[in-house]
Parts: sequence; structure tokens; C-alpha cells
Amino acid sequence: MSIALNRQFVHQIRAMLVRNATTGASYALATAPKPQPEHYDIIIGGGGLVGTTFAAALSKTPVLADKRVLLLEGGPPFKGFNPSAPYGNRVSAINQNAVDLFKTIGAWDRMEAARVKPVKRMQVWDASSDALIHFHNEHFADNIACIIENDLMLEAVHSLLQDANAKKNVEIRNGVRIEKVSLPSENSSNYSEVHLKTGQVYSCDLLIGADGFNSVVRQQMGVNVFSVDYQRMGLVATVDVSDADDNAVAWQRFIPTGPIALLPLNDKTSSLVWSTTQEHARQLCEMGNKEFADAINEAFVKQYPKSELIVKSLNALNSLMGQQQNQQTLHLPPRVTGVQDNTRAKFPLGFLHAASYVSTGAALIGDAAHRIHPMAGQGVNLGYSDIRYLVEALSDAVYAGAKIGDKHYLIQYERKSLIKNIPILVGVHGLQSLYSTDFSPVVFLRSIGLQLTHNIPSIKNFFMKRAIG
Ligand SMILES: Cc1cc2nc3c(=O)[nH]c(=O)nc-3n(C[C@H](O)[C@H](O)[C@H](O)COP(=O)(O)OP(=O)(O)OC[C@H]3O[C@@H](n4cnc5c(N)ncnc54)[C@H](O)[C@@H]3O)c2cc1C
Repeated sequence: MSIALNRQFVHQIRAMLVRNATTGASYALATAPKPQPEHYDIIIGGGGLVGTTFAAALSKTPVLADKRVLLLEGGPPFKGFNPSAPYGNRVSAINQNAVDLFKTIGAWDRMEAARVKPVKRMQVWDASSDALIHFHNEHFADNIACIIENDLMLEAVHSLLQDANAKKNVEIRNGVRIEKVSLPSENSSNYSEVHLKTGQVYSCDLLIGADGFNSVVRQQMGVNVFSVDYQRMGLVATVDVSDADDNAVAWQRFIPTGPIALLPLNDKTSSLVWSTTQEHARQLCEMGNKEFADAINEAFVKQYPKSELIVKSLNALNSLMGQQQNQQTLHLPPRVTGVQDNTRAKFPLGFLHAASYVSTGAALIGDAAHRIHPMAGQGVNLGYSDIRYLVEALSDAVYAGAKIGDKHYLIQYERKSLIKNIPILVGVHGLQSLYSTDFSPVVFLRSIGLQLTHNIPSIKNFFMKRAIG
């Protein structure tokens, strides 16, 4: 019906302009009735992992399932996922908190039935000192993480949007970019408005900015951001690894240019995430497959100059704590034997935090609100945690008979998310700074810190619980 109305309006304007041109008469265009933008309860700007999962979560939450939702995504329609195709190069380490969200909305079984790799152990070590930390899943009720392809997560949440109720209430528009938004002032009864590049305008009670770290919604909300460009790239690739009996270990080594990580996908395949300088990433992308595989293997085993003082201090610390010499507990990852074609890609890395996640008529979730270095595998996990808190707050608003965009409830969402996100964001940003130098006093401090964390179970469990959920 709205399309028909819009067409009618365009015809009206055209007719007026033609009349104007042929007769020279001056028509008062300003008196033409202004068309009302099509209205939704909630508009989600951005259909990445976080925006699409939020749409699915709304449709699976009984008290919110009848809300009229519009999901606007600048990219083309999602192309689907084939579990028998080779592994994709974009994967994420997903924590238990995210798994619980997927279970709640009914997306988990589909992912598990396709291909999900639980991580049973993790080893993180520092090439400048060999200080290391191990995590084992025996110490926890849950897996350390699950490695899942981003496309599989997207496919599972898109499939939820195909069921009858979701199809009735959630509309998805692809290939449309939000150009600007206008938000109501405090206490006004106006709606939030979204203006597309095509000139189309929509209004809504609540606008959700899930449009990534360059968020247009955030920019127009006018919130302050703290951001740092790390001048580093995250290079990803899908690699073949030497036949490991049970390739279920996540490996991460901090080398002078940044961390390099191998995440297990199946017994013969792993996913590489290599954070390095822009120039080095460019060179790595241009290498042949064989040369690239050699470079990965070298990065995991190459000996870097070590300070004798640091090595002695670590050994002394280990004997003091009743541990054996460090070298005896350091394992090596499986050898990379090949690189799958066309799986290398690089992404700029940076940090960003919005001073506020909400304003009248709008809220931010995912990377639009916070961006973090991938070294701790927390970025999208924090976005999933935002979804849980926002769905809770919106449900409370509806139960209380308040408007869906009532600021009181949005602030409830913001408060819970900030409490969860800030320690992780600050911690990972701090680690990025600590590990981006080979200045001896810093290497000394970080190595002692890592080794103490490894040796004292209560500290280790504390960090582990934070990372898991
Ligand atoms: C190399 C690498 C490895 C990572 N590994 C992990 C990991 O192991 N674990 C983890 O938790 N996180 C990881 N992350 C982080 C994770 O990928 C991000 O946090 C996550 O993808 C953010 O999702 P999002 O939906 O918030 O934003 P995005 O993925 O950026 O999605 C935003 C969407 O909005 C759309 N959009 C943008 N602007 C507009 C507009 N104006 N109009 C309409 N649409 C628009 C875009 O097309 C896009 O689809 C990693 C990141 C990198 C770079």
C-alpha cells in the first residue's frame, strides 16, 4: 500500500512540474502534501552478524515478536551457506554467552548440525620471553570457545527470519545504504527517521545502529567516541595443517609485529588470524601459497632475541611456584602444510568506544558501539551480549506498557552493556599496547604477568570466566 502511495505522490509532483514547465505558471510546490514516511516499530541499520541476530532475537522473543521491524543492509542479499563447501575465511571464536543466546533463539542446533569446532585447550605465548599460559576446558563446565564460520552464524539467524511469524513482521531490504538519520529531541513525540541514499525515508519508534565501526547512526547521534587506529591489519586465511590426532587447540603467539593465531576447524584445517603491520600484511598477501605457508610456520617457531635477565627471572618464578622449566610446557602448533586458494584477506584493526550507546529514539549495538582488537576473540561476542541486554530492556519496556524506545529502558540496556564491555575493552586495548613493543622493561613486566596468571589458578580462572561468558 505504501509503495502505491509513494508512486501516487511521484506522479503528482511530475504532473505539477510538467504543468509548470509548459504554462510557465508558478505552482506553490510547498503546499503539496508531504508524504508520511512508512512507519516501523524498530528499524535496524546494518545486517551484519549483530544486526541480523538482533532481528532474529526480536522475532523469537514472545513479547516483541509482533513488532514491525525493518532491517536495512547496504550489502547484497546473504548468499547462503553450504556445509559441504570448503571452509570460509571469516570465522569467529564464540564464547558460551553467545552459544546460550543462539540456543535461546533456536539457532544453535542448525549451526551444530553443520560444523562447529569446540576448542578444548589454548596456548598463548610470548616470543620475546617464552612466557606462556595454557587453558584447558577440564577446568570449566563449558568449552573454552567454539570456532564457527561467520557465514554459518548468519545462515542460522537468517533461517529464523524465514519462519511465518518473522516473515510477517520482519522485512529485510538489501542493497540500501542509510545516508542520514534524524532523531527526535528529548521529550518530543516525533519519530526517528532514516533517510536512504535513494531518497526514501522511513520512520520508527526506535532506531538501532548495528552498522559497524563506521556507523552512520552513531555519527548522527552525535555521541563522542574514543578511537585508535592500530595501523595494523588482521590477515586471515584457511590453512591445511599436518594431521593432528585431535586438532582442538587454539594457538596464539605474540611476535614483535603482533599476535599470530591458529584456530582449529577440523582435524586437517585451521583458520589463521595474523595481526601485523600494513606493509607486512601486503607482502604476505602477495606471496605464493607455499611461501606463505613457510612464513606462517616460521612465525610460530622463529627464535627472537631474549633478554637473559627475563629468561632467568621466569625460570626462578616457575621454580618458586613449583613449576618445571618453562620450555618443558611449551607445545608447538601443527605445521601448516598448505594454504587454501583465495582465502587470504586483510582487515584494518582499531579500537573504538562510544561514550554513550543510547539517545532519544536510538541505540547502538555491536561494532557500532565498540570495536576491539581480535587477539582475544571478543568483538562479536560483545555484540551478542549487547543483544541479550537490549532484548531484555525492550521486553521490560513492553511489559511495563512503556513505548519501545523509552529512554529509561534504553539506559538500563546501556548500563548493563557498559559494565560488561568496558573491562574487556580496556583489558584488550591494554594488552595490545603491552604487546606492541619489545622494550625490555615492558617485555619483563608482561612476561611476569603472563607467567603469574598461568601459575595461579584463581587468577587464571578469573580471566577464563570473563572470556567465556
Ligand atoms: C580478523 C578479524 C577476526 C575476528 N575474530 C573474532 C573472533 O574470533 N571472535 C569475535 O568475537 N570477534 C571477532 N572479530 C570481530 C567481529 O568480526 C566483529 O566484532 C563483528 O563482525 C561485528 O559485527 P557487526 O554486525 O556489529 O558489524 P559489521 O560486521 O561491521 O556489520 C555492519 C553491517 O552494516 C552494514 N552497513 C554499514 N553501514 C551501512 C549503512 N550506512 N547503511 C546500511 N548498511 C550499512 C554493513 O554492510 C555490514 O553488513 C574479528 C574481527 C576481525 C577483523
